Amino acid sequence: MYIGNNWLQRYYMATQTGNIQKLLRYLREVMAKPGRVQERLDRIVRYIAVNMESDVCSVYVIQDDGSLELYATEGLNKSAVHTTRLQKGEGLVGLAAQKAEPLAVSDAPRHPAFSYKPETGEDPFQSLLAVPLLRSGHVLGVLVIQSREPRDYRDEEIEEMQITAMVLAEILNSSELQSLAPKGTKVGLERPLHICGVGLSPGIGIGQVVLHEPHIVVKDIVAKNPEAEAKRLEKAISEVRSSVDRLLDNGEIEVGSEHQEILETFRMFVHDPGWLRRVREAVFSGLTAEAAVQRVQSDFRARLTRQNDPTMRDRIHDLEDMARRVLHHLVGNDLQSYRGPLPKNAIVVARSLGPAALLDYDRKRLSGLVLEEGGATSHIAVVAKALGIPVVSEATNVSTAVEAGQPIIIDGAAGDVHIRPKEDVRASYVQKKQLLAEQQKKYRAQRLVPSISRDGAAVSLYLNAGLPLDLSQVEETGAEGIGLFRTELLFLLAERLPSTEEQQKFYEQAFSILGDKPITFRTLDIGGDKMLPYLPMAEEENPALGWRALRIGLDRPGILRAQIRALLRAARGRALNILLPLAAHFEEIHQARAIVEREKSYLARHGAVLPETIRFGVMLEVPSLLFQLKELCRIVDFISVGSNDLFQFLFAADRSNPKVAHRYDTLSAAMVRALKCISDTAAAYKVPVTVCGEMAGKPLELMALLGLGFRSFSMAPLAIGPAKETVLRVNIGELKTLVDGYLKRCENRSLRTLLEAYAAKNAVTV
Ligand code: PEP
Ligand code: MG
Repeated sequence: MYIGNNWLQRYYMATQTGNIQKLLRYLREVMAKPGRVQERLDRIVRYIAVNMESDVCSVYVIQDDGSLELYATEGLNKSAVHTTRLQKGEGLVGLAAQKAEPLAVSDAPRHPAFSYKPETGEDPFQSLLAVPLLRSGHVLGVLVIQSREPRDYRDEEIEEMQITAMVLAEILNSSELQSLAPKGTKVGLERPLHICGVGLSPGIGIGQVVLHEPHIVVKDIVAKNPEAEAKRLEKAISEVRSSVDRLLDNGEIEVGSEHQEILETFRMFVHDPGWLRRVREAVFSGLTAEAAVQRVQSDFRARLTRQNDPTMRDRIHDLEDMARRVLHHLVGNDLQSYRGPLPKNAIVVARSLGPAALLDYDRKRLSGLVLEEGGATSHIAVVAKALGIPVVSEATNVSTAVEAGQPIIIDGAAGDVHIRPKEDVRASYVQKKQLLAEQQKKYRAQRLVPSISRDGAAVSLYLNAGLPLDLSQVEETGAEGIGLFRTELLFLLAERLPSTEEQQKFYEQAFSILGDKPITFRTLDIGGDKMLPYLPMAEEENPALGWRALRIGLDRPGILRAQIRALLRAARGRALNILLPLAAHFEEIHQARAIVEREKSYLARHGAVLPETIRFGVMLEVPSLLFQLKELCRIVDFISVGSNDLFQFLFAADRSNPKVAHRYDTLSAAMVRALKCISDTAAAYKVPVTVCGEMAGKPLELMALLGLGFRSFSMAPLAIGPAKETVLRVNIGELKTLVDGYLKRCENRSLRTLLEAYAAKNAVTV
């Protein structure tokens, strides 16, 4: 026998005499034998009733409308099977399902939630214990025992029932249960599920689930030898512990850094007595180590996701991570993301994903992305928009609610996710997708129409680009050029730092596709959430405020110099517009300019043909520049407002953190005033200004910017059509009056409501 821990030994001794092992063995045998599903279910409930010394044992299975249908019973009237239904949340059984927790009641008929179902003949039964059938934290049904006499269920009995329910949930094959379901309804993990998330990148994706982190499939649930399982479990846990200890103790992690804090928290979880106790108990009650980890995890997940407290919900991620690591140690494979070839119309489901990981997926087969975490202006959203991939974020628990290969539909504008959708839902999305395609066709047909407002003001619409495939979008959308070329996307795609020659080739390609149309190249904006895997950087506590963008370029001038040289060479004889990201004070701008000048002289000395003109611009993203706008206007040739970062820094709200990303309105007074300042000063100094953050691509925000005086915008390809449509429908003079009035009244509320009314009156689709 395994002797690792005294209390474990005691627990083991205690459960040796219990029924649970026998019961689990029986379940395994019944399920292994061929036979009709209904017969097997009937046998199981009969056995559980006897084993748990109860008069009744029943199984209810959840249907697609959330109701619970009686699927098998021992002790209630058999005629009620497949007839009795409890509506969502109805009765004690419904309550257990809703709360995803066991419910033990000694006097059921007197409980306020009791719902009497005469056809079941349940009058004589007093006590009731209902436990949810949970798989991956999702309720598939409820297992119930009832007794004639009042009975106070002991903790061990509840635990036994929970373990039985877990095994049942795992072994009851969804498709078998499905065969018992009334025609036209779906059960368990076959049920349709609608999750409301937040739309990050518009478009409709209809396809099949690809899990970024594939689920671990536990095949053996019932242990043949609990002692051996206990040893395996302890070994896996101690391996996870030592790997965390090693990471923390080998000195590679900076003391006091955020990374250290995360690992310390993680270490706490690996020693969490509550979690460990429950897993060990589950093993000693007869489950394999893997099944025990899954069972406890499923239970924790179900409980924690029903908590309103966000910090409690955060615990799920830590616990999930730990469970995943322990499971990987148990099944002996690496922690890795999806590696196989993508199926057609793949919709990747992930907890979170960085831009580089997204670019690893085959674009041609990728129809969408669903995330549990990620803010609307995060770089994953920016890259996905550039690629035209619909994305929904904040889809709570989506990664555990789906299985690979299941059908899924996402609406990246509305933020809806439909898992295993019904045919009518699917049909309506197919139609919606067609309509969107038609709308795009209309926008395409309109691409050569000049974007002039009703009152005759010309507005320039440029494209945000960065990937080779974006270049053709200039022609497709009718954009006037590229207003923001995010050069870092090429670096994110590469496996190593691209050479000067490789960069030059790519920039030349851009120039040649664009013809006479202008391009503004932004120098490398890496760091923050855009990490290059081949360029090691130290962990930072505040990456968004850290060593990124121009700061890296100036501290590692080799990288910036190579890029500038590639740009100067590629632009030979043409106009070159260079844009600096994240400048915070003038010294940085002067230094960068000096690098350009040096490179120019170097190339001239070597007889290279230089660009016809070089214009030098700065991204206005850091609020420090707001307070020296006049001086800025004197030293730059143009300004580009990076509204994503400007907003993030103005409100101190991390753009990739969904908890704060939507907290403030981009059309609230502070932002509107900051933008007004920029627009007025740039106009006074005759410095061209373009707005190139995500704001410009949203019709309401675009209307605000037009009213504020901006006339040049750069946006994702899909936003150009709706933006032009907006410009054609508005009267900018009227918008100016509206915005001026708002600013004069010093209103505290958002400008949004006023613009919504204007949009409705002028048939602008928002
Ligand atoms: C911005 O910050 O608004 C911007 C356009 O730059 P990026 O989104 O690439 O940080
Ligand atoms: Mg930015």
